[in-house]
Amino acid sequence: MPYIEDFLSAKEEAEIVEAIRIAERHTSGEIRVHIEQNCATDVYERALDVFYILKMDNTKQQNGVLIYVAVDNKSFVIFGDQGINNSVGENFWNSTRDKIGSQFKSGHFKQGIIEGIKEAGQVLSSHFPWEQGDNDELDNTISKG
Ligand code: CA
Ligand code: CA
Repeated sequence: MPYIEDFLSAKEEAEIVEAIRIAERHTSGEIRVHIEQNCATDVYERALDVFYILKMDNTKQQNGVLIYVAVDNKSFVIFGDQGINNSVGENFWNSTRDKIGSQFKSGHFKQGIIEGIKEAGQVLSSHFPWEQGDNDELDNTISKG
């Protein structure tokens, strides 16, 4: 896996941010992407920490979704807030996880993240449809740690 600076080009990052913006047109859910070089602890626990550090639990319907990537660990986690888990159950993210995973295996990181965002947006929209007056509650830019 490449260094975090080279993991995604500026153009690829812009494409990811745009994918989030488009996905959020159809759902009140909020999607964020966080990328870091290395995770020294359990990636799931770290993803959970990042979720709270980014204040992603601070949405009205508790429907924030984090796609967390640890470059050196070749790992990613998709984590959704309580509001989503309450209404759909824990298998909700399996299809999203599979999409990201198969692209990552082929080294297509940007494509994997974008497909994950699209898939997450789609599954979110059926349970949390976009509503008039929706706010962009969480920044769409990629955060790095
Ligand atoms: Ca929103
Ligand atoms: Ca957003």
